[in-house]
Amino acid sequence: MIYKNFKGEKLSSLGLGTMRFPTLDGDDSKIDMAKTAEIVDVAIKGGVNYFDTAWGYHGGMSECVMGELLSAYPRESFNLATKFPGFSEDTFREKENIFSRQLEKCRVDYFDFYLFHNVWEKNIEWFLSPEYGVVDYIKKQKREGKIRHLGFSTHGSLETVRRFLDALGDEIEFVQIQLNYLDYTLQDAKAKVELLRERNLPVWVMEPLRGGKLATLSDDKRNKLSALRPEESVPAWGFRWLQTQPEVTVTLSGMSDITQVSENIKTFSEHRPLSDKELSALCSIVDSMTDKPSFLCTACRYCTAQCPKELDIPRLIKLYNEHSIFGGFMAPTALKSIDADKQPSSCIGCRACESVCPQNIKISEVLSDFVEKLSNKEE
Ligand code: SF4
Ligand code: SF4
Repeated sequence: MIYKNFKGEKLSSLGLGTMRFPTLDGDDSKIDMAKTAEIVDVAIKGGVNYFDTAWGYHGGMSECVMGELLSAYPRESFNLATKFPGFSEDTFREKENIFSRQLEKCRVDYFDFYLFHNVWEKNIEWFLSPEYGVVDYIKKQKREGKIRHLGFSTHGSLETVRRFLDALGDEIEFVQIQLNYLDYTLQDAKAKVELLRERNLPVWVMEPLRGGKLATLSDDKRNKLSALRPEESVPAWGFRWLQTQPEVTVTLSGMSDITQVSENIKTFSEHRPLSDKELSALCSIVDSMTDKPSFLCTACRYCTAQCPKELDIPRLIKLYNEHSIFGGFMAPTALKSIDADKQPSSCIGCRACESVCPQNIKISEVLSDFVEKLSNKEE
């Protein structure tokens, strides 16, 4: 296992994400304990010493299961991370109860790493609200030794990340972001990495394979990569790309079976960053996944001044692009932070925006297609 130095401590560069454990009866909150115990055991024997759970994972059961399984190991032998939930305003009113329950569920006296969970546009006000006082309360827990290191995870915009960092100053020691070779450009993760580099903050990676979506590629894409590194699997290419990013300290992978754990441990047993030639092969694969006209949007914002509905067109296009490739919940979730009268469905098709778009994007058609794609999902 490769270990990274973080403030004089040795952290395994591969961390076990605990939101995709095997379950029973198709019920996400019924974790298969026997299989999960094996996963944790194989991970620990393979050198993993970082475990990432959260209040909400597996319907609240992930913390309980990690508490039970890790209590069999010496406390100093592992790093446990959990998070303050940010998905509902109610949780902010119950900070004391939540934090003390987390310690009980995880069967620990302190957390090695504690994160504000998914700080984004919809909840940043709650996190920063003096009335709820969550930040002050968590800082107090740190001063009292119940938290060793403080950070936050985020799927939010660059502006939101910057604002939260500005608000919390030196309290933040690391930031967990969604980073992989596709989101580097698609989700503008590159700009977040650059911001964190400026602030001397290490990067923790979530979704290194996009929830498994980058674990398989079409035959032509896979063959292209195999020609360069026949011995590497498709998932390993995703991890090797991350090894090419010097800011990355811990890469979290939500592993669901021991085969995955063993393969990932093997990948993280050596540091093999990609060469320029290999990086350009991966870039061309990303290009072929993002070759629709809508991906040409440069966010110049010329169009927004023309729009009678005052839509944030580049933001909607960015979400459309995300949704076109992967579908899933990401774009629909992000749309929830946008006012009802600024949704893609608010476009009246006047095409005033299109006359000024230097990339000749058929914006009205993009938004109409977005509405259709979203409604198909809801059927
Ligand atoms: S076509 Fe839609 S997005 Fe473009 S200006 Fe008209 S209302 Fe706005
Ligand atoms: S004018 Fe075109 S390229 Fe510029 S932000 Fe609007 S859609 Fe994107």
